[in-house]
Amino acid sequence: MFSKRLTETEKIAQQAMLALEDRLIPATPENYTVWYHYYSGDYPDLKRTLDILIDNGQEVAEKRCRELYRKFFTFEDEAVAVSHAGQRVGEELEQVMKYLSDVDKGMQKYSDDLNSASTGLNAVEDATEAKPIVDKVLESTTVMSKKNAEAAANLELSSTEISDLKAYVEELQRDAVVDGLTGISNRKHFDISLRHLATEAMEEGKPLSMIMLDIDYFKNFNDTYGHQVGDQVLKLVAKTLRTIAKGDDLSARYGGEEFAVILPGRELKDGHAIAEKIREKIASSGLVDRKSGKSLGKITLSAGVGQFAYGEPLTGFIARCDEAQYLAKESGRNCVKTEEALPKSTN
Ligand code: GH3
Ligand code: MG
Ligand code: MG
Repeated sequence: MFSKRLTETEKIAQQAMLALEDRLIPATPENYTVWYHYYSGDYPDLKRTLDILIDNGQEVAEKRCRELYRKFFTFEDEAVAVSHAGQRVGEELEQVMKYLSDVDKGMQKYSDDLNSASTGLNAVEDATEAKPIVDKVLESTTVMSKKNAEAAANLELSSTEISDLKAYVEELQRDAVVDGLTGISNRKHFDISLRHLATEAMEEGKPLSMIMLDIDYFKNFNDTYGHQVGDQVLKLVAKTLRTIAKGDDLSARYGGEEFAVILPGRELKDGHAIAEKIREKIASSGLVDRKSGKSLGKITLSAGVGQFAYGEPLTGFIARCDEAQYLAKESGRNCVKTEEALPKSTN
């Protein structure tokens, strides 16, 4: 079983190396990563981007490869964009401080003018002497009121600009971690989160489990009903994961029609129970074509569950969950298997 999966990996590795050779791209780890994941289909958005480039006859040389690596495997682009936005927020705040200081200075001057008018008025003896003082107060009031109106308009503009920047930063942060189709975490966020959550589990001495899920006979479903309807199914699965795995749990689209749920603080048996709940919910959902209203039958999924062993490499943990899921497929699909069911050599 394990060797069969390895052969698949080797095949993908070979395709990736050939793609690099054909395009005269040096086989650096970064370039290899891009092409390995293109052939594995693990990163659906990367695959779609490359397919579009290839279909349009565009050359995917080293430079493009580097751009794709940066976009899909690092947070560099997002970090640069967030940092620029942060800089603009800083500049806007400086402006706001300046407007406020101008208002403050204006108020101070107005207050001085009123004080000196008050002193002057106390000393007048007839109305003709009072007139120039009152005129001066009126003039000061007009200037003050005009300046205040200008400052209020400027502050309003800055406030809108800052709100827009805040929304932009939030959008950038969301796009960086979310899968475009399903709205749950993307593969990049899954990789980073798993590393983080496994470390946290070790530090806090808490368990961590994970479920890997794969839709059964999905190719067949797509062939029968079309890719767009297939995409709706992927959305439904993601929605189900989100409603069942809540709180600290992290649901991600692991690959094309493969999903993963990381369960911090949960032992294997809890992971098993949650996986069963997801499986049952999907298997009992009657699918209906939105456009025609016709029934599309049912879909099912197979799931594998594992518990993280402190100190083990994450690749080993993922492989064990994957093996359990593969065993679920071999056992007839629409079922859940845990790592306990694996032969001891891979357990
Ligand atoms: P198994 O029960 O063994 O998992 O069979 P399967 O047909 O699901 O597995 P296989 O790996 O042969 O095919 C996976 C299919 O998933 C192929 C592809 O058409 C479909 N798929 C992958 N990504 C997407 C996607 O983004 N949208 C749609 N609609 N289909 C996708
Ligand atoms: Mg699959
Ligand atoms: Mg499948």
